Amino acid sequence: MASSTSTSTSGGSPFEYAPAPESRAIVDLKPSYGLFVDGDFVDGRGRSFKTISPATEEVLAEVAEADEADVDAAVRAARRAHTRVWGRMPGKERAKYLFRIARIIQERARELAVLESLDNGKPIRESRDVDVPTAAAHFFYYAGWADKLEYAGYGTTPVGVAGQVIPWNFPLLMLAWKVAPALACGNTVVLKPAETTPLTALLFAEICQQADLPPGVVNIVTGAGATGAAVVSHDDVDKVAFTGSTGVGRSIAQAVAGTRKKVTLELGGKAANVVFDDAPLDQAVEGIVDGIFFNQGHVCCAGSRLLVQESVYDELLDRLKRRMSTLRVGDPLDKNTDVGAINSGEQLQRIRELSEVGDAEGAERWEVACDLPTTGFWFPPTIFTGVSQAHRIAREEIFGPVLSVLTFRTPHEAVEKANNTPYGLSAGIWTEKGSRILWMADQLRAGVVWANTFNKFDATSPFGGYKESGYGREGGRHGLEGYLR
Ligand code: NAP
Ligand code: MG
Repeated sequence: MASSTSTSTSGGSPFEYAPAPESRAIVDLKPSYGLFVDGDFVDGRGRSFKTISPATEEVLAEVAEADEADVDAAVRAARRAHTRVWGRMPGKERAKYLFRIARIIQERARELAVLESLDNGKPIRESRDVDVPTAAAHFFYYAGWADKLEYAGYGTTPVGVAGQVIPWNFPLLMLAWKVAPALACGNTVVLKPAETTPLTALLFAEICQQADLPPGVVNIVTGAGATGAAVVSHDDVDKVAFTGSTGVGRSIAQAVAGTRKKVTLELGGKAANVVFDDAPLDQAVEGIVDGIFFNQGHVCCAGSRLLVQESVYDELLDRLKRRMSTLRVGDPLDKNTDVGAINSGEQLQRIRELSEVGDAEGAERWEVACDLPTTGFWFPPTIFTGVSQAHRIAREEIFGPVLSVLTFRTPHEAVEKANNTPYGLSAGIWTEKGSRILWMADQLRAGVVWANTFNKFDATSPFGGYKESGYGREGGRHGLEGYLR
């Protein structure tokens, strides 16, 4: 648990373990941060906001809030850098900067991981083993493309200035997904991190300085929704890349309609994780747990709808509950922790409300018995059984550690239920039969389909959605398309 006690969260038979907290001494937190514009940290023109640790509600720092004039200064800096330096630089020279950034991310990995866990609330095990190494991998991967764009098939001319807005669930990783391909193709960027998680983006700005990246190639403007709106609607932005909710994505699509701007949108999801009766059940249980409790379920491609073949329903649910009872919920900086804090009070409120709708709709709630810390934002790993397709918890993205369980009898019924959603980002299939995997993968309307695994990410593999999950791809060769003419 997050407090000083060191028993497992299990309501069954708690067992002792020694806390293994990662030291935060490696992070040099400043009391306040400015905006990163034209290679320097500058004061915003007035207002600022606080970013907190969601695990303790401790204020970590005061961060400048960029207004329209600040955003304008950042876009001008990006335009100058594009016209004078970056857009003209040979790809093999740009590649050297990307390789350098990738190596510095590796060198400063522990610092980045601790800062990410502090600001976001995610377990250090995840920031250390997933977020930071995958962010470095994106820079390495796109560095390799920078001098080979003519082989990618999307042209070799950069679009120009990219305005990029990212969410709070994978702050550094989403930055890497956006910045690495943009820079590799010769674009310059103005990026707005989420309001609750600006700190690793600001550390990344320091890394750009350390890598001697020419001023103005990367600009970071912190702030809330209004700052994001100023970035995407700025007249001199050529390309908009947005990751976030479907609602905000829709308003951005409207704002840029009829302009010359290129747009990619990575939006929400409600993925089905489909377990057939021939699946190796213990392995499937691991995939289900990873699918919905990884990053507290704050994952756009989370396997939030479990579809179980009726014949193995009882056995699978027994095993799933037993496995969930061993999850350790608590201090994000403890290396034992499996499930950290919910990112904000607002997000916790949303999770609570949709869960109460689940109760009211008649689904049955089961949650891991654990003592949650009294400060910070916490929600226990939870499942709802007896969920029907019409229930809101089966249709709406909950973006938290809450799994809805439905059943099916035949593969056709599984496909129909899996596709019965406005989203189409990802899906999982668990079966021994290779032919069934191929058939299902063909039938499922999802950008990514995992078979006998879940939530695996790789810089070489394109990621993106169908339907209301957005359009465009990030990662892989396909990820270059949005940044080239
Ligand atoms: P969000 O509210 O849409 O916010 C995303 C970003 O947009 C934040 O930086 C936000 O700023 C900013 N923003 C808010 N209003 C804006 C506006 N009118 N114009 C421009 N920017 C605006 O989403 P979220 O709640 O932070 O993130 C969770 C959502 O992201 C989920 O739906 C999840 O599925 C989705 N997501 C998708 C992917 C993917 O690859 N498909 C990956 C990760 C997350 P503030 O933070 O200051 O509000
Ligand atoms: Mg924070």
